[in-house]
Parts: sequence; C-alpha cells; structure tokens
Amino acid sequence: MADRVFNFSPGPAVLPLPVLEQARDEMLALPGIGSSILEISHRSPAFDRILDETVAGLRGLLQIGDDHEIVFLQGGASLQFSMVPMNLLRGRSDKADYAITGTWGATAIKEARREGAVHVAWDGAGSNYDRLPDRGGLALSPRPAYVHLTSNETIQGVQWKREPDVGDAPLVCDCSSDFLSRPIDVSRYGLIYACAQKNAGISGVTVVILRKDLLERSRDDLPRMLDYRTFVKEGSRPNTPPTFAVYILGLICRWIRDKIGGLEAMARHNAAKAGLLYDVLDASGGFYAGHARPDCRSDMNVTFRLPDEALEKQFVSQAAAKGLVDLKGHRSVGGIRASIYNAMPVAGVEALRDHMLAFMESAATARTAAAR
Ligand SMILES: *Cc1c(COP(=O)(O)O)cnc(C)c1O
Repeated sequence: MADRVFNFSPGPAVLPLPVLEQARDEMLALPGIGSSILEISHRSPAFDRILDETVAGLRGLLQIGDDHEIVFLQGGASLQFSMVPMNLLRGRSDKADYAITGTWGATAIKEARREGAVHVAWDGAGSNYDRLPDRGGLALSPRPAYVHLTSNETIQGVQWKREPDVGDAPLVCDCSSDFLSRPIDVSRYGLIYACAQKNAGISGVTVVILRKDLLERSRDDLPRMLDYRTFVKEGSRPNTPPTFAVYILGLICRWIRDKIGGLEAMARHNAAKAGLLYDVLDASGGFYAGHARPDCRSDMNVTFRLPDEALEKQFVSQAAAKGLVDLKGHRSVGGIRASIYNAMPVAGVEALRDHMLAFMESAATARTAAAR
C-alpha cells in the first residue's frame, strides 16, 4: 500500500483496492477451478458463472427489469458511437436527435451522420461546453428515431442531474463516465452504453443495456459483429469476449453492493467527495475558476483553471510530489481536471483539497512579496 499514489486519471482510472486485492489473490488460480481467469475458456462452466453473476450484479444494482437486455461488447464507447446509429437509425426516414454537451457528444454525432439524418437538439459549443440546456431546452425534431445524450462529459466536467423529457422517443445515453456512480431509472431509457474503464472496471468491455423492442430495428445487412441481435442471441459470446474485463466488472458490482451498500450510497459518497473540491472553488475568490456552471457540474470530473498556465503547471507538479497524480486537464479545456470516480477514496480528495488550499495561500504570499 505504501507506494500507491492517489490517481486522478480520467480513465483507465483508479480501482477499488479490495477489487485489486481479490484479483491478485485469485490470479494464479480461481477458487475451486485451479486455473487463472486469464487461462480459462470463455465457454467453460467457470466463465459461465462469472458472466451470469456479472449480469445479475448489474441487474441487481440498477434494478433492470425484463424489458431490457444486457450485453457485453468490445470496441469501447467509441464503437457504440457507430453501432447505435447502425442499429437504430440505418434505413429510416426519421432523424436521430443529439444533445451536444461536450467533446464526447460531438464525437458521437459525427458517426451518426454516416448512417442517416441527424438533428442537433442542443449544442453547447458556443460557450465551450460549460453548461447544459435549461429546463425544456432541447429542440427535438417531430418524431425522433432516438434522442442521444452524454450523461457526464468527462472532458468538460458537466453532468446531467436528471434526464430531460423526450416524450415517447427512445432515450439513448452514453453513460461511460458516470455508469454505476449513482442510481438511474433504466426503464426510462431505450439504450444505455458505457465503457468500463472509468467507474466500472478496466478497458476492454463495454456494457450495453437496451430495450428489447429496439432490437427489431436492426437490419439484416449489418455485419454480424456490429448487430446487437448477435450479442443478445449468443449471450455476449459470439466470439471470445474480454473475459478478464468481465470478471473485474463482476467484482466491481459486488464491491458496490457489499462494501458500499448500493448505488444510492455510492451516489452520496461521490457527491460528498465532489463537494469537498467545489467548496474550495467557490470560496477561492476566483483563484480557482470552475469550468462548468454550478448547476451542472460533475461529481466525477472536477475541472477548473488557475490564474495562468505557469501556476497550473506548478500546481500539477507540486501535487505529483505529494502523490496526487494525473491532474492535468484535457488540452481542449486546459487547467486542471480531477477525476474522482467511485474508487477514489475520500482521503485522496481530502489530500487534493488540502493541496489546493495550501497552493492558493503560497501563491498569495508570493504575490505579496513580489509587490513589495
Ligand atoms: C471515455 C469515454 C468515451 C470513450 O471511451 P472508449 O472506451 O475509449 O472508446 C466515450 N464517452 C465518454 C463519455 C467517455 O468518458
């Protein structure tokens, strides 16, 4: 433990220590199996059980009913930018509506344009994605094929606090960076997708939760491996799935259920952590300037600027010297980004808060000295 730092990476990101320890303990031999998870067939009874338990874990945490299927895919959230319109839009005359709330939403709509007609229901580019639409702010097309959202924009640090009303249109959501960080009412969604490497494990597996009736939209001209029906029919195993990533996802589900106490508790824990940092921003007299507007700032990715880039560089390097790493913001926003996903301990956030307070004070002292 002594040499683990507090890792604020946006993803792949920090994992819960008990999950890492269990994976380590079982690395050479799964209990009762005698082989590593890395060595067993994806068609073995041992992996059957791991996959079934992972699906059951997700169903339990998110209270997913029989109307929705859960499948595991590869290709990351990025492949879903393409698969969603391939399966839900291809060949249709209606439009897919997109709310462009940050870099990921902007990337998603580009792929949809290749498959059919799209409609921009809202675009935050004009203010460099520092906000979300106000109540009723989505300008939907008459009968959208679906409405696409990004629940948490990982780069800008803006997060929807609740779903907008989209009428009867299927709601499709890229939940990559806040999946399993809070409860969601899955029954309100047509399709949810999330890569695992932010809150739900490691890279390699992408979770797709989709309403069964939407499977009827997929056309027979789709390549087999890009057709959701294939993954439903084959139980996520039309070919070799990312077995280790599925195993870790299963451990994460169990950790949230047994150690945290479920998604309500997870959400409270995450909001409390984020609050520690936003309180510093709000009380800093503008020294730390948050990127996102207060009403939509993210509990996952806290983004802010300092008065100038030289100070930001110092802030990052002095933090690293204290074991607080990977705090540099994305180049499109600049400044600092602290990603404080599920597995970031409170102690890590408290250490960052203390660094922020100490750094602000030393900058003020240096300014006073220079003015003399
Ligand atoms: C990380 C991320 C992605 C990209 O995920 P990949 O697995 O790298 O394709 C897409 N959307 C959001 C919101 C993300 O946070």
